[in-house]
Amino acid sequence: MKNLNPLFLTLALNTTAITTQAAESTIPQQKQVSGYYQYQAGDVQITALLDGTNFMSPKLFQNLPEKEIHDILKKYAADQAKGVQTSVNAFLVNTSHSLVLVDSGAATCFGTHLGSVLSNLKASGHKPEQVDTILLTHLHPDHVCGISQNGIANFPNAMVYVSNDEANYWLNPKQASKLPKDKQAGYLGTVEKIKQAIAPYQAKQRFKTYQLGDQVQGFKVMNTAGHTPGHFSYALKTKDETVVFIGDIVHSHTVQFDKPETAIDYDIDPKKAVQTRLKQFKDYAKNGQTIAAPHLPFPGIGHIYSADDQRYQWIPIHFKD
Ligand SMILES: [Zn+2]
Repeated sequence: MKNLNPLFLTLALNTTAITTQAAESTIPQQKQVSGYYQYQAGDVQITALLDGTNFMSPKLFQNLPEKEIHDILKKYAADQAKGVQTSVNAFLVNTSHSLVLVDSGAATCFGTHLGSVLSNLKASGHKPEQVDTILLTHLHPDHVCGISQNGIANFPNAMVYVSNDEANYWLNPKQASKLPKDKQAGYLGTVEKIKQAIAPYQAKQRFKTYQLGDQVQGFKVMNTAGHTPGHFSYALKTKDETVVFIGDIVHSHTVQFDKPETAIDYDIDPKKAVQTRLKQFKDYAKNGQTIAAPHLPFPGIGHIYSADDQRYQWIPIHFKD
């Protein structure tokens, strides 16, 4: 009680008043609108769905001097303090015969900054029960976890598809022992998340695999292995336009477009992942397919340009109302 002299009280009150005034003069950050964007391709409507934003350490990029990485990030005005910004996107495709979800976001597998695909799908005016097909590019948790929550299917009427090679890599119990010792714990942690996500679909015979040469709901399956052993992309032709849902053949619209020969630590076979990217990028730059990508800036739809087949440029679509 000794501190309760008039001078102390005056000082204390003044400090409070100053703090309050400073807080009031700061403009509070507004929440963004819901993360969905409609894109019309021929007869098909694509709704890009934002799962959230991730920040990656620049150290994840392989065999590129740190100075060069920072120079590229600076060129793109990328926020280097937090890391390399990358979106996590999924795509809902209305083909008029079928409502297809390509990838599904991370749900709760990676923390609260991700996991908005389901709420953004609802905000876009669709109902989860209307989705009849789910195409997974691969089984990493930021692509598969969004199909269910706490053991219950988010899309109860959907058939889930992934490549035979991918299912075999993650779901064959013999696989873990084939990996180097230091990779086994990480692998088994991922397997656990995958198993939980697909369990409610497997229980109802709604989990299927395909192989090269197959078609699912008019989507051509394309082997783009490297990032994972059974990684596939999906091509959909509609009128004069072909849209390719590329999956994780690229993780950065900055470093991996300026230096496409740069692998990222997430790649299971970095050498093959680079070969795949170089081959696919060359084709897309030459033939002008529309690209829908889970880790390019939301909505992740655009085109790939190259003047020399060495370096590439991401050309995002422009907002259309
Ligand atoms: Zn991945």
